[in-house]
Amino acid sequence: MGTIARIEVKDGNPVAAVQELCVQLLGDDEIAAVLVPRRLPGTNGTMPALITDPAELRDADPLAPSFRINGARMLARLTRGGTDGGLVAAFLRPCEVRAFVELCKLNQGSMENALIISADCPGAFSNADYPTFAGNGDAAEAETDFLRAEGRGNFNGVEIARACAVCDHPSSAEADLSIGIFGQSPDQGLLLLANTPRGEGFMTRLQLPEVVDDGGRSKALGELVAERSAARDRMFEETSAATSDMNGLSTFLAACVNCYNCRMACPVCYCKECVFLTDVFDHKPWQYISWARQRGSLKMPTDTVFFHITRLAHMSTACVGCGQCSNACPNGVPVMELFRTIAASTQRAFEYEAGRNLNEPPPLSVFREREFAEVTGGLE
Ligand code: SF4
Ligand code: SF4
Ligand code: SF4
Repeated sequence: MGTIARIEVKDGNPVAAVQELCVQLLGDDEIAAVLVPRRLPGTNGTMPALITDPAELRDADPLAPSFRINGARMLARLTRGGTDGGLVAAFLRPCEVRAFVELCKLNQGSMENALIISADCPGAFSNADYPTFAGNGDAAEAETDFLRAEGRGNFNGVEIARACAVCDHPSSAEADLSIGIFGQSPDQGLLLLANTPRGEGFMTRLQLPEVVDDGGRSKALGELVAERSAARDRMFEETSAATSDMNGLSTFLAACVNCYNCRMACPVCYCKECVFLTDVFDHKPWQYISWARQRGSLKMPTDTVFFHITRLAHMSTACVGCGQCSNACPNGVPVMELFRTIAASTQRAFEYEAGRNLNEPPPLSVFREREFAEVTGGLE
């Protein structure tokens, strides 16, 4: 267990306390810029911003339950091949940290060039539901209530996104620094935990008062993970039953219009050129007519199920369950449910967990002798 310190919260405003932490980090000689979610006008939630001027941190809000984009790919772009004079201090949700770990394994980003800070995550609302959550009143007050409830319940009639309701990793031990919210009174104080030697170094320089672990955060975290793991298992059962054959899978994906938003939003869908945008799927008119004649009719657009099966084959071992695929879908296709359910099976088969450990190689990048002997018949 690393050092634990207390972040004082003044005037019942935890967001202001975290903004102050951002200002302190930006003042550190080792930090070149801060990547942090920042409030958009009105109740449109947050989007990440790369900030070098402390005055621009006034609307920073890494605690808002708004999750418009998985920031892992952005941090990968900012750290790949080295930064120009300093680290990027990045505030990422736990699922974003795990996606960044996966990208670093593929040399698309570099942990070396980042200081990662991750707050305990009670969840986030879908883009569609966030304005209802925020309402017309004081968003900061709504946010503090949300943090205090650790994401449980109903807020102005809406609940957190399903990906969050089934999230079994709502905190990050891979980040350099974790902001402890669970089991705390967020209107009074938060914790800051150092998980890595780099995190320890920054913690020392921040000169925050050290505290002794009273076990409150671990207990609250354990209870939340138990609730969400049970919900996750129910989701796996429902999704497996609904997609157990081709008819079921086609029905599950029936509303897909091949817009590929889910692919664009997925942080670990990494191919530079997607095969579905190549000539391979640029079918000729006579092919469509021929396929329609074979069956009497042809559902348009074509290749929707094939698209999802291909994407699953490419990246289900790297899926971190962030839910951005479902968040991005204009037609309400339950993409996250399908991908998480299949990912659980493929990751279990390879004894792998996406984003768990930077030193754990992606399953398909290593060859293990006699792997899957039950499938190959154990042939030498
Ligand atoms: S999937 Fe988990 S870590 Fe990601 S936003 Fe939801 S609760 Fe947070
Ligand atoms: S498939 Fe969906 S849930 Fe999985 S990592 Fe991609 S966007 Fe996140
Ligand atoms: S599942 Fe949704 S987001 Fe993905 S391609 Fe189909 S319609 Fe677009």
